[in-house]
Amino acid sequence: MNCLSCDGVLEEVYGQSHHWCRSCDLYKFPAALGEGQVPITPGGEITSFQCPKCEVSLEVGSITDSVQVCFCNNCRGFVTSSQSLGQVISQMRSAYQGPDDRPQPLDPRELEIYDACPACREMMDSHPYYGPGNLVLNTCNQCQLAWLDYGELAKIIRAPGPRGVL
Ligand SMILES: [Zn+2]
Ligand SMILES: [Zn+2]
Ligand SMILES: [Zn+2]
Repeated sequence: MNCLSCDGVLEEVYGQSHHWCRSCDLYKFPAALGEGQVPITPGGEITSFQCPKCEVSLEVGSITDSVQVCFCNNCRGFVTSSQSLGQVISQMRSAYQGPDDRPQPLDPRELEIYDACPACREMMDSHPYYGPGNLVLNTCNQCQLAWLDYGELAKIIRAPGPRGVL
């Protein structure tokens, strides 16, 4: 698979279904923004938050009907309040009807990546997520925000484990 912009070979993103062009810092996704496992509905508003990966402004959007996020239109990562994240995870895990994913080991390299918080620009914490999915979460304790890379929420939803109804 090649980059649409430079025709260079795209790299796989560890444990994910999307690809990345290192020289252009552009991503290629298997599904459109509003489709796939975790559709994002754009709200059409640009925020003053910065993407920790791409250094572009984040846009307002929503996941499910009730949870507002700020997302990056390039890498499709998003930031939301820790509280909203908990809410969207239990909603979507309860509603998920598909097969469980085979759990994949956590990528220890991710624990060594420290990115700036989209809001306050201080370094976020990088730690294993305590729930299902074997992934590394980036959180800013000061702002009570959590950053998720593209595909991470889908991984949490599809991971085996309890799917209790709220
Ligand atoms: Zn490229
Ligand atoms: Zn980005
Ligand atoms: Zn912060």
